[in-house]
Order: sequence, then C-alpha cells, then structure tokens
Amino acid sequence: MSLNTLIAKLPRLQPQVAKKFALLDLHTLWDCLFYFPFRHEDWRQQVQISDIVVGQDVTIAASIVSVKSRPAWHRRGTTITDVVVTDESNAKLHVVWFNMLYLGKSLQSGDQLYLSGTISQTKDGRLQLSNPVYEKPSENPLHEKLVPVYRSTEGLSQRQIRMVMKQAVALANVVPDPFDGSTVQQLELMTLSEALSAIHFPDSPEQAAQAVERLKFDELLAWHLHMTAANSTVAATAPVIPFHEQDIRTFVQHLPYTLTNDQRVAAWQVLQDIALPQPMSRLVQGDVGSGKTVVAALVAYNATLSHYQVAVVAPTVVLAEQHWKTFIATLGKHETKIALLTGHEAKIYSAGTEATVSREDLESAITSGIVSVVIGTHAVLQPDITFYKLGLVIVDEQQRFGVDQRQVLLSGRTDTPHFLSLTATPIPRSFALWLSGILNISTIATKPAGRVVIQSFVAGPDDRQRIDTAINTTLQKKEQIYVITPLIEESDSLGVRAATTEHQRLSEALPHVRVGILHGAMPADERVAILDEFRRHDLDIIVSTTVIEVGVDVPNATLIIIEGAERFGLAQLHQLRGRVGRSSKPSQCYFVTDRRDDAIRKRLEHVAATSDGFTISELDFSERGGGDMYGQRQSGLPAWQLASINDRQLFERVREFSSTLSAEQQNNLLAIVGRHEKTLTPFHPE
Ligand code: ADP
Ligand code: MG
Repeated sequence: MSLNTLIAKLPRLQPQVAKKFALLDLHTLWDCLFYFPFRHEDWRQQVQISDIVVGQDVTIAASIVSVKSRPAWHRRGTTITDVVVTDESNAKLHVVWFNMLYLGKSLQSGDQLYLSGTISQTKDGRLQLSNPVYEKPSENPLHEKLVPVYRSTEGLSQRQIRMVMKQAVALANVVPDPFDGSTVQQLELMTLSEALSAIHFPDSPEQAAQAVERLKFDELLAWHLHMTAANSTVAATAPVIPFHEQDIRTFVQHLPYTLTNDQRVAAWQVLQDIALPQPMSRLVQGDVGSGKTVVAALVAYNATLSHYQVAVVAPTVVLAEQHWKTFIATLGKHETKIALLTGHEAKIYSAGTEATVSREDLESAITSGIVSVVIGTHAVLQPDITFYKLGLVIVDEQQRFGVDQRQVLLSGRTDTPHFLSLTATPIPRSFALWLSGILNISTIATKPAGRVVIQSFVAGPDDRQRIDTAINTTLQKKEQIYVITPLIEESDSLGVRAATTEHQRLSEALPHVRVGILHGAMPADERVAILDEFRRHDLDIIVSTTVIEVGVDVPNATLIIIEGAERFGLAQLHQLRGRVGRSSKPSQCYFVTDRRDDAIRKRLEHVAATSDGFTISELDFSERGGGDMYGQRQSGLPAWQLASINDRQLFERVREFSSTLSAEQQNNLLAIVGRHEKTLTPFHPE
C-alpha cells in the first residue's frame, strides 16, 4: 500500500463507501492525508449524565437501556432512532439519530457505548443528545484520545472516514518535508510527517495545535510564494508620474475644506508610489464618509498634469454619476477635461460645459487623449476602449468587485497603469495580499473634523413608535431620511415588492411628505434622476433597496432606517449606515428586525456598537467562517484549509522566512509545498 493507493482499492471497503469519499474529492490515501479534520472531540473528558446541562459538549460512557425507531412526525420520510442510555450516575438520557436505520439494528440494550456531542433540549424541556459521534469500546480504544471530526457527506460516517484516515496516517512518514532538518528546527516547527499524523490523531490538544501551526505555515507559504511568483510576471514598468507640488498646493487651497491629516498622508503615499516605475498596487482604506474621493481626485489631477489619463471605476451608475459631479467640482476649474462613460451614457465636461456625446465620439476622445479623466462603470475598462496614455486606474468600492486583482480588472490590456483601489470594508483577499506584502494599504482613520458619531440603535418589533418619532423629528429639522428595504422573496430579486409596499405605507402615513422610491428594476437613468431629486432636497424620504448601499453622498440625510436588518451581512450594514453622518449634523441609524431572536439581536448590537469598518470586515469574515476551530471557511478567497487572515503573526513569519530564500529556492519550494495544497487556487474569482 502506498499514498497513491486508491480508496476504492482498500481492503474491506465497500464500493458505495468509496463513492462517498469521491464526493468529497478524496480518491487516494494522499488526498485523505491532506484532508484535515475541522475539530477534535475530546473523548478524554467524560461527564456523568446527572451533571449535564443544555449546550454542553460532552462525552459519555453509557450503557443502552432501550432502542426504538420511529418515523419523525415533523418530516415525512425521516426516521428517528431513539436510544435511551444510562451511566454510573444512574440518570437517563435520550439519544437520537436521524435516518440511521442500520443503527437501530446494530445497537442493543445492554451495549456499552461512548457518545460525544452537544446536549440540546426538546420543545417539552427534555435534555437529549442528537446525532452524536459514537464508538463501541471493543472496536478501538479511540475513546482515550482526541477524536478527529471531518467534513463529511450524507451516508459517510465519521467512523468510516477515521478508518481510512488511520491507513493514510500510517504512511505519513514517507511524505517529503520541503524543509531540511535544520530549517525545521530553526523555524521551531514540527516536521511535516509529524504534523500530518498529529493533525488527524493527536495525543493532546497542544500537539494538535502544533500540527495546525506547521500545516498553516506550509499553506501560507505556498500561497505567498504563488502570489509573489504570479505578481512578478506583471513586474512590468509603469509610467513615472512626478509630484507636481505647486499645482497640488493650489488644488488643495481651492478645496472648500481643509484635508485631514490622514487624507494628506494617504495622498502622499500614493503620489510617492506613482513616481516610481513599478506599477503601484495600493488600497486606500477609510471608513464610510472619511473622504476617500477627494484623495482619488487629487492624485488623478496629479497624473493629468503629466499628461497621463486616469480611469475612475465605480460599481454602479449612480455612484459613477456622483463622482462625475465631484470631479467636475474639484478638477473642473483646473481645466481638466473629464468624461463620463456608463452602459447608457457618454458625456464630456470641458471648460465649464457638459455635453452629451455619442459613445463613438467619446471613445475617439479617449483614444486621441482629448479627455484626461474618464469616470464610469467597468465599461471604462473594456478592452475595446483604447486610451491614449493610461497612467492610473482608480477603483472605488473595491469590495463590490469581489476581486482587487489588477490582473483581473486589467486583463487584456497591454499598458500597465498604476492601480489604486478604495474601500471602507476590505475583502479577505485584500487582507491576504496585504499580509503578503503585495498590496499596500493606506488608512484614513479619522473622519473630517466636526463629524459626530452616528448613533446606532437596534430596534425590535416593539420599537415602531420610537422609529416614527425619529422620522418626525428629522423631518421637522428639514433633514432627510433613507429607508432601506430587504429582499424578501427570491422571486423578487430586484426588491420591487418590498420597496413598493414600504413606499406606499409611508406615502399614506405621511401625506405631506415627499417620498421617493429606488429599486433594481428601475432603469439606471431613472435611478440617477431620483437620487438627484433627493440630493436637491426635492424629496424628503427615499425608500430604497440596497442599490443605495455604496458611496452615495447626500450630507443632509441624517436618518437611516434599515428594515429586515437581520438579512444583511455585517459589512453591508456598515456600508448602509455610512449613508448618513456625512456632515456635522447629528445622525442616527436604526437596524430594525421583526424577529424576536437573541442571536439576531446580538449580531446587530455588534455592528451598532462598532463604528470601524476594518473591525466590522474582520467580524464579517469570522461570521461567514462559521466558527471553525482551526480556521475559517471564508466565502471566497483565498481557499485555505486551515489558515485565516487572522493569522497575522504566522504571516509575518512566512514573509520573513521567504525573504531569506533565493528566487531558485523559492521556486523549488513552491513546487513541493504547492503540490501539497489541493486548495491552492489563488486566482480563482468566486
Ligand atoms: P467616502 O470615503 O465614504 O467615499 P466621500 O469621499 O464621499 O466619503 O466624502 C464624504 C463627504 O465628506 C463628502 O461630502 C466630502 O465632500 C466631505 N469631505 C471630504 N473630505 C473632507 C474634509 N477634509 N473636511 C470636510 N469634509 C470633507
Ligand atoms: Mg466613496
């Protein structure tokens, strides 16, 4: 037997079981060896039935009193195996399994059994153990140890997996370690073979932790080397754009406000980057309302002074329109020619006038270099648009694009411009790239002076009165309101129904108030028009789906009510809240839920209590990670099995270590570690 042995060829393994392994993409023993448990059950800590409480993770040494199988009353076709057990304490406990018919047959009263799982409570208050992992003492002395638990699939039991894992682990010592003995020692890590064996069947939690550390190290190293290698292939030269100090000074003096120190520093860092021939890859992270746009405008202006063109990409038409106005206001007076290009509109601003032009005319204005700044949706970066001299690409609300890879957004282009992205809530990949040293981050930590903290509240079904009062008070102050409605039905993916219902309700309740509506089924120009009305204060309230979520800036809006708040992601809630608090006027945000559920409330309270986008992003990742012990299944990227972006220190060590390697050593190492990592798909945009 070798690690290449097919699971299907293992003795005493039925073909249908091998098929279940294949469903998990496990075909050989090698695959199994690198398929790590997501936690271990501690079977050494036994609890007496008389002592158990709800929610407790327990292992019980029990003997069976009775075994019954019955159909489940709540779900057709489901069979419940209900086993009553007792132990030394003489107390009794119900243990139930769903759809494990064969169990009912293999268990008999009087049998000894080790059971491990979480204690739950039935509707009528009885404690029980549902779907526990079980072990007969005679089969294997596993109960003395930490027992691995794997992600499985229906019809494949933990025991069946463990039996195969045992055979894989027996061969762990033949896996070559990418590091030699002295390196392993220097890094204070386990050897790879030790780690591979200990992550499956550790002797102690400490040993498991060491194994995890070693394997995370390899995982991060593989990723880091891969990213560095991929990145070095684009190490083309970018235009050198010097700092036009005098003009920038004038530009800053003409702004209607003083830049904050963080804005200055961020702008300065970008200006330094683009003065170098290496293509810049920088993210400006600044909370919602921190003033990222003006930083973008400033550096864009600097690039135009060297006669380079700048593309500014926004995720929505509404936002592109808003930037177009901001850029005209800030750059227009400096004789910059600015274009707007979205799926349905093409405009040029020049010397104080805006003109709508045909798409062809705009394209040729871009190609001949007549316009210097081109603002729009991703249409701007379509390969058929040829720039005269593209020096800088700015991507706003980068988290909306899902990827921040210059390679992805700029694929198919032959020029290599500098790349700047802006966001309040970075995605995991950005963190990982940053930790790898491939992406730089500038942080705008402080908001412009005079901003007051947005007061956030969580409102339940009994708080409607409070919300109505907040609406009335805001209207009396001649300030404006957003009401956000969630997508309730799948059939209503554009949110028409929820928004329409709420719009109607508010219009009827407040007959003298001007209420507008915004949802995904409206054509883009209509959406832009409604938002303009709101901006001019021709509307008091705007009822909107999350199309309003990113970037929209109406400083007179001071109240936002987010209905069905439990349906949104944490980062999304934070983005939504950021629509208010954009001036010195006190602002409020209500996260409203009709659910009476402590877990929901707690989650919303979390966002309500935090005003920092960076922290909320991290919270968001761990939430989506589902609380795995050895890392997080992050939705999306990168697809590590064990490591997570929270492994900052390990990342540092990986960086430090790889910086001591020659390019050749790096390549060799990548070839070995990369092979271990089935999950190594760093460029896969999900
Ligand atoms: P975000 O970082 O969310 O993109 P914006 O760039 O839209 O924020 O800026 C939010 C608001 O703050 C805008 O109305 C902008 O004009 C204003 N602003 C930006 N910088 C400053 C500053 N230094 N002082 C006062 N107001 C500012
Ligand atoms: Mg913005």
